Order: sequence, then structure tokens, then C-alpha cells
Amino acid sequence: MTLIEVKNLKKSYGSIHAVRGISFSVERGEVVGFLGPNGAGKSTTMKLIAGHLRADHGAAIVAGFDISAHPIEAKTHLGYSPEGAPAYGEMTVREFLRFAADLRNLPNPSERVKKTLELCRLNEVAHQTVDTLSKGYRMRLGFAQAVIHDPEVLILDEPTDGLDPNQKFEVRRILKEMASRKAVIVSTHILEEIDELCTRVIVIAHGEVRCDESKEKFLQRGADLNEVFRQLTA
Ligand code: ADP
Repeated sequence: MTLIEVKNLKKSYGSIHAVRGISFSVERGEVVGFLGPNGAGKSTTMKLIAGHLRADHGAAIVAGFDISAHPIEAKTHLGYSPEGAPAYGEMTVREFLRFAADLRNLPNPSERVKKTLELCRLNEVAHQTVDTLSKGYRMRLGFAQAVIHDPEVLILDEPTDGLDPNQKFEVRRILKEMASRKAVIVSTHILEEIDELCTRVIVIAHGEVRCDESKEKFLQRGADLNEVFRQLTA
């Protein structure tokens, strides 16, 4: 079942053509690794799919709903964790998740908060304010607010960026636990994450798709993934 359909998306910021006609679709059970150099257009594409930006051209369909024409219906099925996992610093972790649950008008919000704290292993910091969290917990909170409504579609912008190996392991473990039921797009600069986490790879450079194939096919391109990446994005 196709849960994400991206059709010829284009977005410019003034004279900068950040996204120049990107198309792909993602099925349930797929975890798509979104790769590309800084400035390639990954975050912009993710923002367009998540409805945080409006496209100049093209469409993004999430769980059958056009994100521009039916944003509320689309966002019901979508979880999005932006780069850097922004959150309100003065709220505690529990308050922030309750806020996220209330924003989404979820039934049984207390129950959802409790389950999400458990799922994302956030119980031990539930009473801490966001400002006082370590980077690992902060990123996990960004992830937690994205999955509080158990969405079918997950868009994660560099969820393991800057984490230590143990923290990365935790985020990957949580993601792998839920991935088979969802369609996931996850951007990363860590090429080793592809083998562990992804079923498919999309490489973007200069606002265009340079490669879209199964993880297996991508890994067969060469033993040195950094070199593969360089060749595809040069
Ligand atoms: P990536 O996520 O792959 O690093 P981005 O989507 O963030 O790439 O950026 C793509 C291009 O658009 C870059 O040239 C970047 O400088 C530019 N860009 C991104 N956001 C803005 C913005 N709000 N205003 C102007 N230019 C932007």
C-alpha cells in the first residue's frame, strides 16, 4: 500500500532552486534513507511532504490525502520530527508530550503520553524541563512527539545527528520496532545506518533525485560507501 506519493515537487527560496522536481513513492514497511550533501534539498523536501512549507509546484500525498488540499486529514496520519528536534524549553518532557497529544486532539491523551514515554524510554526524564535534557534525550523527545499518535507515515530529519553510539543505538532500536507497520523517510549523513535501518535509499543532490533503489542494490555499488556517495552527488 502506497502511503507517501511525491509528484514533481518544486520549491525555490528567492533565486535558490532548493527542490527541482522530485518524485517518488513509499509503501508501507519501507524505510527510505534520504541521503545527500548539505544543501541538497533534503530538509526542504521533508518540510514539503510534512506540510511545513507549501510547494511552488507538484504535490505530496500522505496516506491518500494531499497535504496542501487536506492538511488536517494528512497530518492525522503523519509524524514529523524536524532537524534538531525543536521543543519548548520551559516545559517538562511530560508536559510537552501532553501538549502534542492535546494539539492532535487525541482520545485518552494521558494514556498516549504514558505509552509514548515508555516506548521512547523517556520515563526517567519525564519531570525534567526540555532545556535541561542531554542531546540524546532531546532528540528522543523530538521522535516521541512525532509518534505519539502512532502515525502510518514518519518523516525524520537527521534523528541520530550528534548522538553518541549508545544514543544512536536507542533511536534506531525504537525505529526498527515500529517500522514494519509504517512508511518511513529518514535523512542521515551516517552511511552505515543504511544497512542497519533502511530498506531503500534515495540520494538527492542539487534538488534532484540522483538514485532511488533498494538497499541491497545500493550497497552493491561499492565497498566504500563514501566513494559511492561522492560519485552520485558530485
Ligand atoms: P539539506 O537538508 O539537504 O541540507 P536544505 O533543504 O536545507 O538542504 O536546503 C536546500 C537549499 O535551500 C540550500 O541551498 C539552502 O541554503 C537553501 N535554503 C534552505 N532553507 C532556506 C530558507 N529558509 N531561505 C533561503 N534558503 C534556504
